[in-house]
Amino acid sequence: MDALLQGLKTYFGYDSFRPGQEALVRTVFQGGDALGVMPTGAGKSVCYQLPALLRPGTALVVSPLISLMQDQVRALLQMGVPAAYLNSSLSEGQMQKALANARAGRYKIIYVAPERLLTRGFLAFAQETALSLVAVDEAHCVSQWGQDFRPSYLSIPRFLELLAARPPVCAFTATATERVREDIERLLELRSPRRLVTGFDRPNLFYEVQRPRNKDAALLALVREFGPASGIVYCATRRTVDEVQALLAGNGVAAARYHAGMDPAQRQRSQEDFLFDRTPVMVATNAFGMGIDKSNVRYVIHYNMPKDLESYYQEAGRGGRDGESCRCVLLFGPRDVQIGRFLIEHGAEPEELDEEQRRARRRAELERLAQMEAYCRETGCLRAKLLRYFGEQGPRAGCGACGNCLHPGPETDIGPEALRMLDCVLASGQRYGQAAIAEALRGVRGRRTAGRQLQALSSFGSLGHLSQEELTERFEHLLSAGLLEKTQGQYPVLRVTQKGLDFARHGGPLPVRLRAAPAPGPRPAAKAPAAGGEDPALFERLRALRAELASLQGVPAFVVFSDATLHDMCRRRPQTMDELLLVSGVGLRKQAQYGRRFLQALQEYRAAAGTPDPGG
Ligand code: ADP
Ligand code: ZN
Repeated sequence: MDALLQGLKTYFGYDSFRPGQEALVRTVFQGGDALGVMPTGAGKSVCYQLPALLRPGTALVVSPLISLMQDQVRALLQMGVPAAYLNSSLSEGQMQKALANARAGRYKIIYVAPERLLTRGFLAFAQETALSLVAVDEAHCVSQWGQDFRPSYLSIPRFLELLAARPPVCAFTATATERVREDIERLLELRSPRRLVTGFDRPNLFYEVQRPRNKDAALLALVREFGPASGIVYCATRRTVDEVQALLAGNGVAAARYHAGMDPAQRQRSQEDFLFDRTPVMVATNAFGMGIDKSNVRYVIHYNMPKDLESYYQEAGRGGRDGESCRCVLLFGPRDVQIGRFLIEHGAEPEELDEEQRRARRRAELERLAQMEAYCRETGCLRAKLLRYFGEQGPRAGCGACGNCLHPGPETDIGPEALRMLDCVLASGQRYGQAAIAEALRGVRGRRTAGRQLQALSSFGSLGHLSQEELTERFEHLLSAGLLEKTQGQYPVLRVTQKGLDFARHGGPLPVRLRAAPAPGPRPAAKAPAAGGEDPALFERLRALRAELASLQGVPAFVVFSDATLHDMCRRRPQTMDELLLVSGVGLRKQAQYGRRFLQALQEYRAAAGTPDPGG
């Protein structure tokens, strides 16, 4: 057998590579540079871990997140691979000890935070050690255009320069915009890398945007429709999480919650309640989901619009890991855009940024927010919109399996209304903020419009038939279509752009259309969790055993075996150690460590059920 495939089976327990993995593994194994762009969950870790195991020397993996490093190292240790991480969670003593081990060549793989690369102790180790490769995880952190820019990533090429010999360098990200991809190659100074971009489409996810008048009612209806099936409800802030959880609980829906403001023990409990299907619904901020391997999530609802499409793709992508269908619904309201801007303007920033970098970061964030909003206002195929953002073509004629393709809502031409709005802004001298202009258009005689020329305008009261909400929506639409703009500063003022002027003069060229909320219609059925010829009671039995083994060692359950592995075990029902090895996700080490217990559980289950095995 090919050495790579054999390694994949021995260490990871997998029989075949997933799309893209083999080319990347082979390139790095042979000593070349590589850039892998793959969606979350596609299996990036294998791409550098396998060559690291097969090449002589120690591999370094640069990673930005402490929790990710810990999970990865735990998983490697479970596979019998000597690995360690070096980050600020270690005490000085632990750090020294780990470095001494590293120097002695005891680790096959070391995870390291980017800030540590150029420190004296680490650099000395790296310079005197044979390195098998350097892998850069979450490589988009090097780009100011990406999410989560981390200036310390910029020190990676300097670090490589200081090494005695440059090992192969490979970089991985799930962010695929062209600009970020170019930045990664250039800033990390990759040498003619093998580039591999795997498809971002997830055909079993059904995307949908709703614009409900009442989000709470819409949410309740959706959650009720899914009954006992597992689902996640993402909210923008901790407070909203608490409110939405209370709303669900108050209406008899059992819901757990998760956000960074809760105490860790409570959070852990919520997470487990959800993971183990004790509570069907999880209401959470984006803090929830990292490293969560729950495969049977049947719906993901966004109560608020996320900050960008990367986040949306990732969060919605936590559904349907088992390949069964999952409905991803975004509940959009114009206020979401304001919340998004507020969070960008008042959000925490990495301290390491200088003033110039801060400004660049904010610009990039606002740009991504605008793209996110454009998705919400998209009238064509949502899947195509998402895929285009990630640099793919997408289905030309629509996917036939998203909210917009299935139930295109009626479009209203708001051209005439747009003309009045632009006219009002122009005629009042482009000196007023949105609130004042809106009141003028609706004919409100109040503080904002009193004593000024606003009440004398011909457009005063000309849109009196619209509610405040409807008018706000139209303003947001004209802003995002680029007909209006807002000035910067504490008191932003509305201005008409050149595009807006052209429109006002010629009534064109573009018609301004606003799409109403999608027509209610038959929805894709909420499927029950995958049965697929599998005995749910057996699955429960194996899951309980997994939980027991995991808690004995104090590791998360999915580090022992993933859900997918347990499912495969249920289907195959191995009776011998050799048969066990045929199960996807069972490698030599795990066979040795857990094999007997699982075979025993299967045996007991057979005896209790008194049924002969299929085929046996
Ligand atoms: P990413 O880093 O791209 O988000 P991971 O490396 O965490 O993804 O992999 C996601 C899941 O897929 C893990 O449970 C991993 O063990 C599994 N996986 C990776 N490669 C394969 C493969 N070739 N066959 C089956 N499962 C795989
Ligand atoms: Zn579609």
